[in-house]
Amino acid sequence: MNQAALALLQSVFGYPAFRGSQAEIIDHVVNGGDALVLMPTGGGKSLCYQLPAMLRQGVGVVVSPLIALMQDQVDALAEVGVKAAFINSTQTFQEALVIEQKMRQGELDLVYVAPERLLTQRCLELLDACPISLFAIDEAHCVSQWGHDFRPEYIKLSVLHERFPHIPRIALTATADQATRAEIITRLQLENAMQFVSSFDRPNIRYRIVEKANGRQQLLDFLQAEHLQDSGIVYCLSRKKVEETAQFLNEHGISALPYHAGLDTRIRTQNQARFLREDSIVMVATIAFGMGIDKPDVRFVAHLDLPKSIEGYYQETGRAGRDGAPANAWMSYGLQDVVQQRRMIDESEADENYKRLQSGKLDAMLALCETIHCRRQHLLSYFGQTETGIRNCGNCDVCLNPPSAFDASVVTQQLLSAIYRVDQRFAAGHVIDILRGMESERILQWRHDQLSTYGIGAARSEAEWRAILRQAIAQGYVSVDYESYNSLKLTEISRAVLKGELSVQMRRYEKPQKPAKQKRVSKGYIETDLSAQGQRLFEKLRHWRMETARLHNVPAYVIFHDSTLRDIAKAYPNSLSDLRGVSGVGEKKLATYGEQIVELVSSI
Ligand code: ADP
Ligand code: ZN
Repeated sequence: MNQAALALLQSVFGYPAFRGSQAEIIDHVVNGGDALVLMPTGGGKSLCYQLPAMLRQGVGVVVSPLIALMQDQVDALAEVGVKAAFINSTQTFQEALVIEQKMRQGELDLVYVAPERLLTQRCLELLDACPISLFAIDEAHCVSQWGHDFRPEYIKLSVLHERFPHIPRIALTATADQATRAEIITRLQLENAMQFVSSFDRPNIRYRIVEKANGRQQLLDFLQAEHLQDSGIVYCLSRKKVEETAQFLNEHGISALPYHAGLDTRIRTQNQARFLREDSIVMVATIAFGMGIDKPDVRFVAHLDLPKSIEGYYQETGRAGRDGAPANAWMSYGLQDVVQQRRMIDESEADENYKRLQSGKLDAMLALCETIHCRRQHLLSYFGQTETGIRNCGNCDVCLNPPSAFDASVVTQQLLSAIYRVDQRFAAGHVIDILRGMESERILQWRHDQLSTYGIGAARSEAEWRAILRQAIAQGYVSVDYESYNSLKLTEISRAVLKGELSVQMRRYEKPQKPAKQKRVSKGYIETDLSAQGQRLFEKLRHWRMETARLHNVPAYVIFHDSTLRDIAKAYPNSLSDLRGVSGVGEKKLATYGEQIVELVSSI
């Protein structure tokens, strides 16, 4: 164990010990080794390059695509007394000159640079002239052409290895799949890097996937029951839906802001800043939002539409609960989602290879939605982590409320023959009407009431039939033809089901229920272990933090995390030396805020 690193962890960051494999990684990089770090969101990746940069000679260059967050990152480091700066397009030429000067003179520990800036001749020459401790390539999955965060400039980052072969590089990402990992290694020439793969489990996140009835209303019910006044993110597929959903939530008393690529940059930045700074904003967003958002107290992530892949889903839900306190990942999902996603793949301009890949990812996502086993186990094994020993996690909807499966062979046969009898020329609504024996105008017009399949499924509700059809599509027994009005088609394996050679298992349909008002997972957790007096102190501390954050123009969590405030409210430090022992209180913060906090404590 690197004693110098531990000493800095304690004195600068105020943390008593390293987490997971942080110590090993730091040791390796301090000694000049290259590293590839795969760690879930909230795992503590930043320290893995910040500490080595402080311990080694020269400035640590952090490549990050997240220009909008650099200011907050640098502010947070300044709060603990680390000399950091950034170079990006938000600065004037003069401002950048000052930073460049400091870099040349070795006055900085860390500098954050956007990749497009780094690759300029001017910047590379600047680096030639500076002592450099390391290169950290954050969000390294951006190098992957198949991922949704692909940034073409990332590919060119291989120049770092060619131009500065003796400077250690550390690439970090929270994206766990094998293909992305392999791509990072080849594209960034990290063949000789040591790989550090952490467990991707996020035990404090509760996964839930509900049958979609009226998604928006279900979301509102969920928020009202469990997340009033919490920070959270709601993901939607389209810009239009983002706008509508944000408006809907606002009309129902929830402070929601929209975020998508179509919004004016100024408004987007403003909304992001409010989300980061305030305590209880719901951000309604497309997947354009969220990368690098390190707000620790996001209490829920909700998906109103099906994500395109498990990688996306896991990354997005991972933004909840970075502080380790309980958080929810909630999603509503229905037949329309499956149809829509399949159509998007089909209609995209991409080549066949790419379409096949996307289609495989969608299938995997559907399998997660339809599984009748523990969701967490399913997720972890998707990422190749089968050795976790988790069978029933006890913290997902399936474990908490096991669904039952049933032998769906006969109903699938009914569905398939209904599709067959209308010559595979009709869409879901009509086929279900036939099965249920409805007397719609269309049925009479086509004389479909004469079919042998007419009314054979009358005992099941429309929602139930939709759930069956959805699972049939997910399992590949039915396909949807987008070229001809979404008509349902049989597939190669349908025949085996029709002939009774293949049996089909499905999840039993359960009517969506309005959630009962529950004790909130969020603040409830933070407050439960406090006495009444501690509780009062905690509220006072939060209030003090809010004022202080406003004064310094930084997000509240940059001053102190909730967990640190809670520890203070428990420990009642009466002196600076008592306060020093609290996790999250380093020397600089002690010097800056210590007196104020001790005074606050004694006033209770
Ligand atoms: P990541 O970048 O992996 O998502 P961060 O580096 O932002 O995660 O760390 C997540 C949170 O955990 C941060 O608030 C950080 O201060 C905290 N943290 C990291 N390492 C430790 C540690 N060893 N002890 C206590 N808190 C830690
Ligand atoms: Zn589970």
